[in-house]
Amino acid sequence: MGYGYNLEEAKERLFSALRRERKAEGLDERVIRAMERVPRERFVPPASRHLAYEDIPLPIGWGQTISQPFIVCLMTSALDLQETDKVLEIGTGSGYQTAVLAEMVPKGKVITTERVPQLLQSARALLAELGYGERVEVRPAGEVLGCPEEAPFNAIIVTAGAPTLPRVLLEQLAVGGRMVLPIGSRYEQELTRVVRTREGYSVRTLGLCRFVPLIGKGAWEEEAPPEEQKP
Ligand code: SAH
Repeated sequence: MGYGYNLEEAKERLFSALRRERKAEGLDERVIRAMERVPRERFVPPASRHLAYEDIPLPIGWGQTISQPFIVCLMTSALDLQETDKVLEIGTGSGYQTAVLAEMVPKGKVITTERVPQLLQSARALLAELGYGERVEVRPAGEVLGCPEEAPFNAIIVTAGAPTLPRVLLEQLAVGGRMVLPIGSRYEQELTRVVRTREGYSVRTLGLCRFVPLIGKGAWEEEAPPEEQKP
């Protein structure tokens, strides 16, 4: 029995589970279909390929992880994407979430930023190889969170945990734009959906989650080196 067969079975299992959870959890059928078109096995390290369609996060190197499929589905659904939307992602990582976004906006654009150069390069190459190159731009993270020079965005997704709602990201959202991000401690966060309104913004939470920290000005500092962590 080859991996191909097992992967196909696991894939069917995963997507029927997501469809079962759809009503209860607010998952969008269009997002489930978009995820079915993206080969997640290409975005995980070769040694984890057999786990690509398990509903779990997986390490992708440099202390980072590719998110659990359920969380990708929940966050993407909450963005309420239209096919012409201009979308910003912070935290490219493997590029999997980026590909799902690109599938959702066939007439739009996705800009994604990443601070680990090795992840940026492999995601950029893989996304181009899979045919997403035209719609997707992978950029190195700058001094300011997000991509102010390309604002405003119809939707922003942050795939790393923030300590608070970063004001600089809210400012990059169009009026009527949606942002989904984890907010909380370094170890556990509340998945949060923010809509920018004419007067300010409205907030709704979607449940608990666990993401790697968002690093940078207005977010977390990089882990202190070991000697500084001693009491
Ligand atoms: N969406 C990714 C998940 C990646 S994990 C996927 O589908 O695989 C979160 C990523 O956020 C990590 O790769 C981390 O390096 C990156 N990151 C953390 N802080 C960042 C920042 N300020 N700007 C851009 N990327 C950041």
